[in-house]
Amino acid sequence: MKVAVIGGGAAGYFAAIHTSGLGIEVTIFEKTPKLLSKVKVSGGGRCNVTHRPMEVSKLIKNYPRGEKFLKRVFQHFSVPDTFDWFQSRGVELKIEADGRVFPTSDSSQSIIDCLQREAEKLKVKIQLSTGIKELNPTEKGFELITEKGVFRVDKVIIASGGQAKSDGYHFLKSLNHRINDPIPSLFTFNTPGEPIRELMGIAVPDGLVKIEGTKLNYRGPVLVTHWGISGPAVLKLSAFGADWLHEHQYQARAIINWNAGFGENDYLEHLTNYTKAHPNRKIHSHSLFDVPSRLWEHLCEKAEIEETVLFGNLTKKSLNKLVQNLFCYILAVSGKTTFKEEFVTAGGIALDEVDPESMRSKYHPNLYFAGEVLNLDGITGGFNFQAAWSTGFLAGKSAKASKL
Ligand SMILES: Cc1cc2nc3c(=O)[nH]c(=O)nc-3n(C[C@H](O)[C@H](O)[C@H](O)COP(=O)(O)OP(=O)(O)OC[C@H]3O[C@@H](n4cnc5c(N)ncnc54)[C@H](O)[C@@H]3O)c2cc1C
Repeated sequence: MKVAVIGGGAAGYFAAIHTSGLGIEVTIFEKTPKLLSKVKVSGGGRCNVTHRPMEVSKLIKNYPRGEKFLKRVFQHFSVPDTFDWFQSRGVELKIEADGRVFPTSDSSQSIIDCLQREAEKLKVKIQLSTGIKELNPTEKGFELITEKGVFRVDKVIIASGGQAKSDGYHFLKSLNHRINDPIPSLFTFNTPGEPIRELMGIAVPDGLVKIEGTKLNYRGPVLVTHWGISGPAVLKLSAFGADWLHEHQYQARAIINWNAGFGENDYLEHLTNYTKAHPNRKIHSHSLFDVPSRLWEHLCEKAEIEETVLFGNLTKKSLNKLVQNLFCYILAVSGKTTFKEEFVTAGGIALDEVDPESMRSKYHPNLYFAGEVLNLDGITGGFNFQAAWSTGFLAGKSAKASKL
């Protein structure tokens, strides 16, 4: 039996490895001259391979698209399986404080070496610089049209990754699968003209960012950059709000609570009590609520509180203004910036046309999908690779087990 895996990335490698077996010839077709190139640069060269083990019900909440689909996929291969798989092949993994998992070597090359060693051992064939231009179902299997000629195989696993433009999916047209248009996910917000950009470099550990007029709101660290705002809360918002933000051409109003542990009344009460306890302290120089001092001064200025004003002299109007700036600081968002560390695309093969128990196409019995080519994506933190390992494993196992 001949199986073609299209794409030499994380999902393609994992699928090829798990398809291999007696009497099965597996070939990875990779359009570029390089294999596993995203793994190489991932996680700043360290490869954030997965995330801290957690229940599947919690794990799936990290996928803006594909949550229900992955719930079924993860029953077959989940985070603990990723740990076992790599560790049993000599790659030790470590969990960092924020839950991200890296090889203890802090080098993505350890992951690459492990995958390549395994594929070599199982005699997986590699066809580099062989992009698939057309993929045609035939009576007995598939015909792959490439610049290096035509290849005929019995089964195909498509693991060609996410595409920035719809053209990237062109070679899949003849399969008649529905493809959701690609849109960006995981980006930071541009706020041109907003004075807050002068505070670039400051961060709050536990902010809450909302998009006005939607139910979208995410909590976590918020970072001010020289072009706008970034940090985990913003990245999560960009991923879960990818469709809405795309539809609105990245024009929105972001509302920030600089300390998510405090509500409007909590701020008011705390400030009133502080004013009574410390009437002679200068407001500008006594930052509260874990707000960095430069940000605190900026919030005081926005509330029109002069530098010399003491807590005891704070007028009700200024107090209310300060609370408003702490609780619902409004920023005009106009445009986005790609998050260089880990960007993914939303979009791809529609999930309702693929069986999550096998990764098999609902239209072609010998066709399977794995990885980011599907309309699924995770937030930053190792979730995208976990989806690649899980879907790759399942596609490979199913392709191996199913009869022709
Ligand atoms: C800079 C960066 C850092 C990242 N860091 C992390 C991280 O630390 N942790 C994490 O979980 N995720 C990370 N991600 C996301 C993660 O890399 C992807 O989700 C993951 O690589 C998807 O794997 P894949 O195999 O589905 O696709 P890909 O890795 O994109 O592989 C697809 C392969 O298919 C090939 N291909 C495409 N079309 C064809 C064709 N027609 N014929 C033949 N071959 C074709 C491509 O050239 C490519 O090699 C990062 C992404 C980027 C860009």
